Amino acid sequence: RKTVFSGVQPSGALTIGNYIGAIKNWVELQEEYDCYYCIVDLHAITVPQVPKDLRKNTLDVLALYLACGMDPEKSTLFIQSHVSAHVELSWVLNTISYMGQLNRMTQFKEKSRKSEENLNAGLFTYPVLMASDILLYQADLVPVGEDQKQHLELARDLAARFNNKYSETFKVPEPLIKEFGARIMSLQNPDSKMSKSDPDENGYILLLDNKDAIRRKIKRAVTDSLGEVRYNDEQLGLKNLLNIYSTFSKEDITTIVNRYKGTGYGKFKEDLAEVVVEGLSPIHEKYDYLIKNKDYLEKVYKSGAEKAEYQAMKTLRKVYKKVGFIPK
Ligand code: ATP
Ligand code: MG
Repeated sequence: RKTVFSGVQPSGALTIGNYIGAIKNWVELQEEYDCYYCIVDLHAITVPQVPKDLRKNTLDVLALYLACGMDPEKSTLFIQSHVSAHVELSWVLNTISYMGQLNRMTQFKEKSRKSEENLNAGLFTYPVLMASDILLYQADLVPVGEDQKQHLELARDLAARFNNKYSETFKVPEPLIKEFGARIMSLQNPDSKMSKSDPDENGYILLLDNKDAIRRKIKRAVTDSLGEVRYNDEQLGLKNLLNIYSTFSKEDITTIVNRYKGTGYGKFKEDLAEVVVEGLSPIHEKYDYLIKNKDYLEKVYKSGAEKAEYQAMKTLRKVYKKVGFIPK
């Protein structure tokens, strides 16, 4: 069986962008692959976090993983900081990473622009840590949204560079980016992607938003003045809303577009809100149940960490040996 690795940062509550671009696909992959799904808390602290919120968000992400259909019997669900090999491998990979290449990472450029007072080295080497997440598990496939494509490219480069310099050690991973839903846009600015760390809460819909919040945010979503529901690149706001609609109603875009011929945006947005509310309601129900079961969540992440650590240490031992460290 092939191996899959992916993760989400507990840098906030999950958005429907994370769901559509990543988590929803992960659930399907469980049937066919050995999957490692991580909650990457080490990545989250590259931007400022309040410790107690980070703790809460980490458990929330785990409960949401489960509520969305990830199954700890099929997949390894774990928290990144529980497996120290991630940091250890990332140090080694740092030493073969070029500053120039890291400097060209668009996520670094964007995030550093947003937090100039917190321009820390962790934000700069974020993609190296991400490469170590993936390479530790010898992942064949990495299902992510479009925004992570460049980081995946770096992970591939580092794997190949290490293999070249020492000898065959890492599998060179392939990105798995679905065309549909790979880039859900901000509701307030259809030119930039929806992000859970967006300071404008109207830009995103959270998986745990209540009905009123969902209705309000969709009502306020930026569209255009053309007044006709169509799916094209001149109407990016609408295109994004149609993608969201289609995900939750499981209908083709054409079916939906035809339904709103000549009705304007009001009715379309009202219905969209209901489709999203309905689509998220089973997730809410499961989440509410799971988040009260702290003992169960603890059991899941502890046994996940054990399984992950076993695989990760196998790779790390090989790496340490190849670079010339003396085994203890
Ligand atoms: P942050 O703003 O803190 O970076 P984020 O919303 O970008 O948060 P991440 O934890 O960085 O979320 O990414 C988790 C996964 O969700 C990744 O696979 C990423 O590609 C995917 N993803 C994030 N945003 C979107 C989006 N707008 N559309 C589709 N996929 C997305
Ligand atoms: Mg992100």
